[in-house]
Amino acid sequence: MEQTLRGVGVSHGIAIGPVRHMGTAVLEPPAEQIAAHEAEREQAKARRAVEAVAADLQARGNLAGGEAQAVLEAQALMAQDPELQADVDRRIAVGSSAARAVYDAFASYRALLAQAGDYLAGRVADLDDVRNRIVARLMGVPMPGVPDSDEPYVLVAQDLAPADTALLDPALVLGFVTEEGGPTSHSAILARAMGVPAVVALRGAVEVAEGTVAAVDGSSGEVVVAPTEERQAALRAAAAERKAALAAATGPGRTADGHAVPLLANVGGPADVPAAVENGAEGVGLFRTEFLFLDDSKQAPSQAKQVEAYRKVLEAFPGARVVVRVLDAGADKPLDFLTPADEPNPALGVRGLRTLLDHREVLLTQLRALAEAARGLPVHLEVMAPMVADRADAAAFAQACREAGLDAKYGVMVEIPSAALRARAILGEVEFLSLGTNDLAQYTFAADRQVGALARLQDPWQPALLDLVAAAAEAARATGKSCGVCGEAASDPELACVLTGLGVTSLSMGAAALPYVRATLAKHTLAQCQRAAAAARAADSPEEAREAARQVLSGE
Ligand code: PEP
Ligand code: MG
Repeated sequence: MEQTLRGVGVSHGIAIGPVRHMGTAVLEPPAEQIAAHEAEREQAKARRAVEAVAADLQARGNLAGGEAQAVLEAQALMAQDPELQADVDRRIAVGSSAARAVYDAFASYRALLAQAGDYLAGRVADLDDVRNRIVARLMGVPMPGVPDSDEPYVLVAQDLAPADTALLDPALVLGFVTEEGGPTSHSAILARAMGVPAVVALRGAVEVAEGTVAAVDGSSGEVVVAPTEERQAALRAAAAERKAALAAATGPGRTADGHAVPLLANVGGPADVPAAVENGAEGVGLFRTEFLFLDDSKQAPSQAKQVEAYRKVLEAFPGARVVVRVLDAGADKPLDFLTPADEPNPALGVRGLRTLLDHREVLLTQLRALAEAARGLPVHLEVMAPMVADRADAAAFAQACREAGLDAKYGVMVEIPSAALRARAILGEVEFLSLGTNDLAQYTFAADRQVGALARLQDPWQPALLDLVAAAAEAARATGKSCGVCGEAASDPELACVLTGLGVTSLSMGAAALPYVRATLAKHTLAQCQRAAAAARAADSPEEAREAARQVLSGE
């Protein structure tokens, strides 16, 4: 019987094929006691297993290259973490077997990581995978891994670990479905990098029987289990139609009647540039610079190191805009040397610009590095601050930009409702706004973006969120300045039309979403987008807003 399950679509496209499950069994070694004289031998055994797994991960990384290599190398480092190893040694010294000691030591490390915020919590699957590999080796059982299949399949898993996804054959994997994970999990990141459709956070995914046909729609988040022949045919036709529309829509972003909406890419560093260029990004709308700061937990990267990384991104977009966000540390992106460890509510604490104003030397070094990186390049550098609450914040950031001698436009992100409500005053200090709808939703609905159970309130179709977008866009229009969107909302093609209708002047998103947004925008006039926006704002729930906009856009 056909059944439709709904999760979160994180990588566009439609895939239809038989389900194959990932081998994700967590091996729990028996809690037997070893004799004291065996401890030394078990410790050596644990070390050998750790080294072998780290070497294997490293080798897989070399084979995979690119983004996957960085992830696998990070996993190899996790395996060799000295504190973890010391914990394993300690546990063996008091009677654990090597396998049990590894299992327990990783469990306590995992608990720490799971509590440490969005970015690190997303790495829990990586850590589990490292543990499973070491434990499997110590117990002499097969490694967890990708299914063995000669036929293309839809991969279903609890969550996917990079060591496996890196070796997936794109010719065989039609799409991903995971029970866990969110838009920032590796399953999502790698599915986008591989360009296959993916749905995450799908309850019931792991219960779908092996071999059952599933149709995965990575745009809507729907997975149809055992679809009828007619349904399959309809989905294939829809996929072909979408593909044709995607291929037909090229060039800069614009509505059917020619209203320009520049389509920009969100990048985390130089590694993301090729995909942005391939997908026709007209520039960068959000360069998240945090990744550069994650390498060293004790200090900021030197100005020279920053210049090198920034320049690689800036030189890839001659004649185009590149909007760089200064460091957004704290809350879901904690940095040891900057983020207070004892805040009761980190998302409401000292983060983003607040952190930088407390550590002006970090801000000024970054701004100087950006000025130096852009020198002599034909790029239009723009710099913006995260987590700006009011005009005083905007003025303080603008002052820092002037002090650093930055020859660039400077603006602010609108992520706090107060900034959207008083956008006009803020624009008295800076030259542009960029709506960070992920955080704006979090703060508008008092709903922590890391808590999956509150996903309803994080839905970017929430009419109250659209009201705030409209307020910011109107302030920008009234002052003749620009107001883009760089949160996840921009990557939903229909919502992108609504945002355009609300008066947003550019849209920035993960590179893989660009063709979808470009094609959908090209099908609708500005007036239609405006009507869709009005219909969505008149609704009382995100579901109604989506439906109302859909009706206007489909001309029903
Ligand atoms: C946002 O909050 O919408 C945003 C783009 O910033 P980040 O997701 O990095 O917090
Ligand atoms: Mg944000």
